[in-house]
Amino acid sequence: MKLCRYNDDRLGVVIDGNVHDITPVQDEIVASSRRAMHGDPVIAVLPQWRQRMEDMARRSGRVPISQVRFLSPVARPSKVMAAPVNYRKHIAEMQNRKDINIKFLPNIGDAGIFLKANSSVVGPSEGIPIRFPERITEHEAEVVLIIGKAGSDITRERALDHVCGYCLGLDMTVRGSEDRSFRKSMDGYSVVGPWMVTADEIDDPDQLPFMLSVNGNVRQNSNTNDLIFDIRKLITFASQFYTLYPGDILYTGTPEGVGGVKAGDTILMRSEPLGEMTVDVRAHRIES
Ligand code: MN
Repeated sequence: MKLCRYNDDRLGVVIDGNVHDITPVQDEIVASSRRAMHGDPVIAVLPQWRQRMEDMARRSGRVPISQVRFLSPVARPSKVMAAPVNYRKHIAEMQNRKDINIKFLPNIGDAGIFLKANSSVVGPSEGIPIRFPERITEHEAEVVLIIGKAGSDITRERALDHVCGYCLGLDMTVRGSEDRSFRKSMDGYSVVGPWMVTADEIDDPDQLPFMLSVNGNVRQNSNTNDLIFDIRKLITFASQFYTLYPGDILYTGTPEGVGGVKAGDTILMRSEPLGEMTVDVRAHRIES
């Protein structure tokens, strides 16, 4: 199933190029969810509600995907995690950079997973507002996984049981001297979308091809089979430090080819099994 959020907080299922509206399901789930819960209420009940969602989707009204504005498929992640330095060629590319000051790149096992502000999460239709046009803002194309089942100290054997789906992600970064979580947490700097493909539709998450282009020029083109910490290891690693909750977002790392964007640019990201999304880069402050 391809689950999406769109327009004014509507919930939908994508079938053959159309979005089928199942917003009444979302209303019912949210109305009965506990206020004290960790994580996203819709993602948390997906196993029990999935059949009803698919039944309603078949009967409901549909709109072509070209006519909707996609939001992040998760409304309320309890946290947004991201893997640094998780592709070898990206590490080599960063060590050779002369335009930014990187003294030392640890390996991911020493660097750990970092966090981005939840408020930075947007869907592709919302675009990326650039707050510091005089500084370098770069795209990092990444495969993103969504946690479906809560867990801590998760074993490698059980790791994929905790994943409910996958989507495309942009981990945007403004270069500078500040802490990484600060520079990657601006509004719109965590694009997730265009929808979540449930895990049962993905044969092997460590064999996902993906590409990114800017204004039609391909810049990143890789596959999760190049990951240093694979999908299972990222889940076991993160869950040694904190409990993972339904709806938690994990960016798995970016391959080589990161590069700058500016207001007016259009980013396209595509993966055969995960879909395609177009994201506009724009100015945060309009000159008057
Ligand atoms: Mn990243």
